[in-house]
Amino acid sequence: MTAELAIDLGAIARNAQALARLVAPARLTAVVKADAYGHGLVPVARAVAPHAARLCVYALEEAVALRDAGIGAPVHVLGPIPPADLEIAHAAGVQITLWDDDLYARQVASVARRRRGTFAVHAKIDTGVVRLGLTVDEAPAVLERYATTPEYELAGAFTHLAAAEEIDSTFTLEQLARFLLATQNLDAKVERHTAATAAAILWPETRLDAVRCGIGLYGIWPSAESETLMRERGLVLEPALAWRTRIVALHDVEAGETVGYGRTWRARRRSRIATLPIGYAEGLPRSAGNAAHALVRGTRAPLVGRVCMNMAFADVTEARGAVEGDAVTLIGSDGAERITAEELAAACGTIGYEIVARLPAHVPRTYGVTEP
Ligand SMILES: *Cc1c(COP(=O)(O)O)cnc(C)c1O
Repeated sequence: MTAELAIDLGAIARNAQALARLVAPARLTAVVKADAYGHGLVPVARAVAPHAARLCVYALEEAVALRDAGIGAPVHVLGPIPPADLEIAHAAGVQITLWDDDLYARQVASVARRRRGTFAVHAKIDTGVVRLGLTVDEAPAVLERYATTPEYELAGAFTHLAAAEEIDSTFTLEQLARFLLATQNLDAKVERHTAATAAAILWPETRLDAVRCGIGLYGIWPSAESETLMRERGLVLEPALAWRTRIVALHDVEAGETVGYGRTWRARRRSRIATLPIGYAEGLPRSAGNAAHALVRGTRAPLVGRVCMNMAFADVTEARGAVEGDAVTLIGSDGAERITAEELAAACGTIGYEIVARLPAHVPRTYGVTEP
């Protein structure tokens, strides 16, 4: 074993409860795409389902995996479903996303007819991400057609916000106004939703009928600005993931010696260098080299030299007494020290989302449930 992920499902459940309380009476829907942001789809879905009105995934395969695991909660597939898989989607009883008014829309209707049922759909409207969705101009007429198509049950209409994690809300409020305009004729029973975690916590006016929270469930903040502001207002989100490995070898190097590929790190003093059995193939970004820290014996140990494919180096000179087999924490706490996903991400020039979403499926995950 090279590394291990320890996931606290208690923390995830408490984060879901905290977000649900914050946004009420809007409903919380829980985004568990990308293997629940690397935390593990099925265990996380089980932990959040009691606190959420619905689960959201990106791909049909994830929805089917939930059903196969015996999870019967409502599931919304946010991403596109190939026409050939619509039968499977209908059989799995999932809610799908629709932004088409042409061939695909007819295929959806015909699958529902063939299966003698209706397809629950959420209409997606593009208000400024320019990714997927009906245009604001075409939306009112198309929504009207969706609402009157007998094979559809128009369950919701939604949009995605481009810059909600920023403290300047100008564009967020513009997008909200476009969405409200596009959906103004909708029946009140059609759920309107725009907010992901950042908007849900920062911009109450975007909560509408429901919010779609992903990153916050995992105790990771959408941005540093949102963290500062929401901590002041008393929102507590607990990080739920610890990422640990162990020292496999130790080397003493003299001042002037270099470590690793490209010789990008040179010892300024006699130093103790630990070899870690974890590299970019295990999810540690190459950019962590000479930038991020690990924790060894409760002490910060800089990651030095280039991260290799399956190995990396930590300078453990300050971690007195470090020996082979010692635990090394990439994310999580050790003694009084803690490294968050956000800290590791910032050191690597990315965001917490990318660090956790790219944790490979082959890294073993263990699950625990802590009490508050
Ligand atoms: C991923 C995603 C979310 C969740 O975003 P977070 O910032 O992780 O809360 C919500 N809505 C859509 C459409 C998404 O793709």
